[in-house]
Formats: sequence, structure tokens, C-alpha cells
Amino acid sequence: MGMTVINFLGGCREVGRSAVVVDSLVLDYGIKPSEPPEYPLNGISPRAVIISHGHLDHVGVAPNLMYYDPEVFMTPPTSDLSHILLKDSMNIMESPPYGRKEFLQFESNTIEIGYNQPFEVDGWEVSLINAGHIPGSASVHLSKEISILYSGDVKLEETRLLNRADMDYPETDILIVESTYYGVEHPERKELEKRFVESVTETLDMGGHAIIPAFAVGRCQEVLMILHKYGITPYVDGMGKEVSKILGRYPEYIKDIKMLKRAVKNAIPVERGKRERVLEEPSAVVTTAGMLNGGPALFYISRLYNDEKSRIILTGYQVDGTNGEMALNRGMINLGHRIVKLRMGVEQYDFSAHADDTQLKTLVERAVNRGVETVFTVHGENTEEFANWIREEIGINAYAPNNGDIYVID
Ligand SMILES: [Zn+2]
Repeated sequence: MGMTVINFLGGCREVGRSAVVVDSLVLDYGIKPSEPPEYPLNGISPRAVIISHGHLDHVGVAPNLMYYDPEVFMTPPTSDLSHILLKDSMNIMESPPYGRKEFLQFESNTIEIGYNQPFEVDGWEVSLINAGHIPGSASVHLSKEISILYSGDVKLEETRLLNRADMDYPETDILIVESTYYGVEHPERKELEKRFVESVTETLDMGGHAIIPAFAVGRCQEVLMILHKYGITPYVDGMGKEVSKILGRYPEYIKDIKMLKRAVKNAIPVERGKRERVLEEPSAVVTTAGMLNGGPALFYISRLYNDEKSRIILTGYQVDGTNGEMALNRGMINLGHRIVKLRMGVEQYDFSAHADDTQLKTLVERAVNRGVETVFTVHGENTEEFANWIREEIGINAYAPNNGDIYVID
């Protein structure tokens, strides 16, 4: 029997720059959006790259691998989303780690594969399984003599936008699982939606503006669906507009495409140069960047930061060191040319696209029922605690690797 080598190159004991190598297959190759950005460790020559989903912390530097001319596999929505995210980040980064040629090579080498359509690469049979995280997101199942399930980012509960992850896992020996929210429970979704909508309504009733930062992929569309459901007509500005159009082309990857289309139609797109007009009367604006590091959100905030009637209503987790985190914890924001104190309100509603503590434990238990005997915990600040829990409560091998760690399995 041959042996298998698992090499962890990034996303260990941290969130960002996800990259795992199994023999000569690379699973994700992302960026860590820190200042300056961080990349996975190098030292690999991949035969193939498999991208779990279209977020930059999973795909952000995959074009860097094109020197080796690998085949690149992902779902059709992930391909489209990766394209616009990579192009955008190439344009806005001060020194992008790849050039136009690598970007185009990445596109040329991409092979689109739907969920549950097994394919062969380098002796492995590979399947992409719905992960319920964003449209097109996948867990990756690899099998030959041994089998490995890489969860990617995963959510086991449905949202307005997406069905929950498919948990009919095939027989698997090894699980590599995300750990983002180990130790944290999410609030009940409907309750969270209600409190969010109440805050938007209150802001508008007071004559203020509700600036709603939302990630362009997934979160923007879900927020539009919630606002539509409650009869609020928002403006929408930034890359979320383009992403909404893309997602409209993939009905089979969306829970209810009609509802999504109605919600997108309900929202008023803001043209560049017409932003001042949006602020002429009370308004709700769904806009990027989700963590306020750039984007049209900063334009609106630059006009409103002194206005006590207005609010920044964050819709997701804010990474340390981002503008969103500074707004939330210090009541200040960096507008580019200067840092100002916020007199407008700042609130946070975490519409998380990740499994919470209970769901992560459920995922591990399901995988163990399918034969898993070894678990690696990645993609989180508390991977070691999660691995300890698995060892103590489930009684199987569990490890929280560090970046650079190599495991040989035979
Ligand atoms: Zn993600």
C-alpha cells in the first residue's frame, strides 16, 4: 500500500490563507487579509488544485501556482466568483502576488465540476459536496486506498439564501475540519433577523441612514432577502451588485432563486457618482466592504460619521485590525486620509455562514459514524481546544496542526 502525505501550508491555528496539500493535490490556496497580506508557505509543485469556494482566504493566491500548470477544479459558481474576486484584488492590491498572465492561466486551467460528480485526478477519486457556506461552496472528498474529507468552510443550517450542507458523507478515514466557531453558539437565525430589521427600521424612523456593510458574496444577497421579506427597500452599492447578477445564473445552487431575484429587484442599485443623492432622505444602504476596509461604505460613512441619528449596522464577524473591528470596539474609523471618531451608532449582527459549536461537533460525529478515525482541526483560533474535545469526548486521534506540519499516513 502506498503512503499519503498531508502537508499543512496555511490556515492552521488562524483564519486566512487556507492551504492543505495531499500528495500532489492542493486543497485551497488563499490569502490572509492582514496588513501586509500573508500567503501560504511554499515548497510544492502541484499536479492539481481544488478550490472549495469563492472566498479570497481560500482562492486568493491560487494563480501563483500556475507555474506548474496544474489542472484546477471547482464548481461553476466558485469559478465565476473566483474570477471577479481575483480580478478585483489584482486591481486594488498595491503589489499583487500574481500578474495578468497567471490570472488568465488560472482561468484557462479551470475545469468546472458540479456537486457529487466524481472525477479522477492523480490516482484519487474526487467529489465535491455541498458545504452550505456560500453559493457553490464545497467540501472535498478524496479517495484511493485511504479517503479524506476536507470540510472547507461549512454551515449545517439553512439560511434564506442557501440549503444546509449535504451531510451524507461517503466512507472516510480522515477528516480535515474547519473550526472557526468552536466554542461559540450562534443566535437563533429568525430572532437575529428580527433584531436586525428593528434596528434598520428604528434608524429610518429617526430620520437617519442605515449603512449596512455586507460581504459581496452571499451576505449581501442574504441581507437583501431579509430586508425584502420585511418590506424595506434598500439601496445596494459596490461589488454585491455584480455578484447578485452572477448568482442569478445558478438556480441549482440557490435555495429559492425566485425569492433571490425578487429581493435583488427590490433593491435600488447606486451608480457611481450618484451616491450623494442616496443621502438626501433617510435610507438603508447595503454595501461593501463587509469589514469596512475600503469600498463605497467608506464614502457613506465619511458623510455621516458625525450624525447621531445614523448607524453602521455590521452583518458579519470583524477580523482584528480591520476598520469594522475598530469601529465596533473603539468607536473610530480610518477614512483613508484620517481617523475620525464616530458619533453615528455602530451595531453588529453576526449572520454567520459557518457552523457554530454544536454544528461542528455534529459534523465530527457524523464523520466518525462514516468511519473517520483521525481528525485534523484547521481554520480557527481555537483548533487546539477543538482537537482536545474530539480526543476526550469522542476518543479518536485529533490534531491541531501548525503551518508547515507534515503528516505521513500509511
Ligand atoms: Zn469562506
